[in-house]
Amino acid sequence: SSQNLFAALRAAFPADLDEIAVEAVSPQGEPLLYTWRDLDRASARIANLLASLKLPGGSRIAVQVEKSVEAMILYLATLRAGYVFLPLNTAYQSAEIEYFIGNAEPAVVVCTPANFGWVSKIAFTAGTQHVFTLGDDRTGSLLERATHHGDVHQPVARTADDLAAILYTSGTTGRSKGAMLTHGNLLSNAEMLKDYWGWQKGDVLIHALPIFHVHGLFVAIHGALINGSKMIWMARFDPKAVLAAMPRATVFMGVPTLYVRLLAEPGLTRAAASHMRLFIAGSAPLLIETFKEWQERTGHTILERYGMSETIMLTSNPYRADARHGGQDERRGGTVGFPLPGVGLRVVDDAGKALPVGDIGNIQVKGPNVFKGYWRMPEKTQEEFSADGWFKTGDVGKVDERGYVSIVGRSKDLIISGGYNVYPAEIEGYINEMPGVAESALVGVPHPDFGEVGVAVVIAKPGAQLDGDAIIATLKGQLANFKIPKRCFVTTELPRNTMGKVQKNLLREQHKGLFA
Ligand code: ATP
Ligand code: MG
Repeated sequence: SSQNLFAALRAAFPADLDEIAVEAVSPQGEPLLYTWRDLDRASARIANLLASLKLPGGSRIAVQVEKSVEAMILYLATLRAGYVFLPLNTAYQSAEIEYFIGNAEPAVVVCTPANFGWVSKIAFTAGTQHVFTLGDDRTGSLLERATHHGDVHQPVARTADDLAAILYTSGTTGRSKGAMLTHGNLLSNAEMLKDYWGWQKGDVLIHALPIFHVHGLFVAIHGALINGSKMIWMARFDPKAVLAAMPRATVFMGVPTLYVRLLAEPGLTRAAASHMRLFIAGSAPLLIETFKEWQERTGHTILERYGMSETIMLTSNPYRADARHGGQDERRGGTVGFPLPGVGLRVVDDAGKALPVGDIGNIQVKGPNVFKGYWRMPEKTQEEFSADGWFKTGDVGKVDERGYVSIVGRSKDLIISGGYNVYPAEIEGYINEMPGVAESALVGVPHPDFGEVGVAVVIAKPGAQLDGDAIIATLKGQLANFKIPKRCFVTTELPRNTMGKVQKNLLREQHKGLFA
């Protein structure tokens, strides 16, 4: 039988298709309501339009548009029509778009009406045949053309192994790579999370994440749709709007910076969050302090999970007692929880040998969620899999005796100082505990004697006065000498990409000459 992801999502729509599926707001501030029938018909029209173009099998549909419900419907239509969805970060400019379009060779490109001029030029040069536009106010040629097509469409049969999407990684450690995800990858992960996170009847999701990334596109949208749950849809994150929606919602997903911004709202109280069932965080490490403050302010314990473009979700803190782990139900701050059901996870040394419980090493994973490889990078793909078929995540971490996984950093961010491994997360943890510190980042820079040494970049809390030398002096009383950063800079913000991830490569670049 067909394993088309759209068919599975469609099968989960409520029996009453006139119920509201998405509550959104137009760019002019007008309420926009979409029923389940609207999602079904609108995605059918676009799927029929795509079918009418007679594209070759496996064609990529590249999409760089502002977040809108129609953009999500275009995703659903692409799955439905059996093509490969390729979302692009809205922040990308011409050099980046040229790289992605040149690399992916999409048959169809959808861009904003405002960008049509330069995007279409790049696309046509790269051999793309069709360029449509889609505005966040329902304008553009895509929807105009789609109105001429019927609103009934039978999802194209797909096997679990057929490609559904190519997701370019966030580019935190270097140039983005296209992760090829199949219908089976996406569907198995969505079905498993529905159960693991206890999705239930009546759940309503606040969707405030971008939809060009695994978190907002897959975890959030699939989570709601496969449970037949309504979404309260926000084109951009606004802490006040999220607060205002909480009394009508039950689930919120955010990257750590969203939680920090919500905590800055005096209106965030127990009462404000009392209707909520679950707060989920991921994409970057959640500071223990944010975790604790959230508990104090709202009475809710944030559930932190870990995943990546190549694998979708890998680990999660438990929503309720996990029978696989002696019924433990604690959501432990500073950890990313247990490997999810069906996901194999091991920690190995650099030679690939499994390490004992509690030892820090490279995280490797296996499971139905693991991608098919990097688009047009067979050597890279081969490099990133072990001989026995495990995917090398590039993250470094450990599993404790209770089964909880913690991430201590990325292997590319590891600092080797005088032959000793320094794990940035450990030192950052100590710095973050100091009074007046909001957050910090430790990076390695070249050093003539030690090979590499740590340099700390620290952000003060509003109003706090910090001194880099004093921070180093405090650390000296707490940690072994080889872990102590040689310099500590106090500044106003850390460089982040759109997913809120700290771009340590930029910090390394900035400070690389310090000891040269
Ligand atoms: P690139 O691979 O291009 O350098 P990226 O790895 O940031 O970019 P993504 O696939 O978006 O691209 O992000 C996955 C990474 O995000 C993981 O490998 C991990 O380092 C980090 N991550 C995700 N969730 C967590 C978490 N809860 N705690 C710590 N790190 C996390
Ligand atoms: Mg990565």
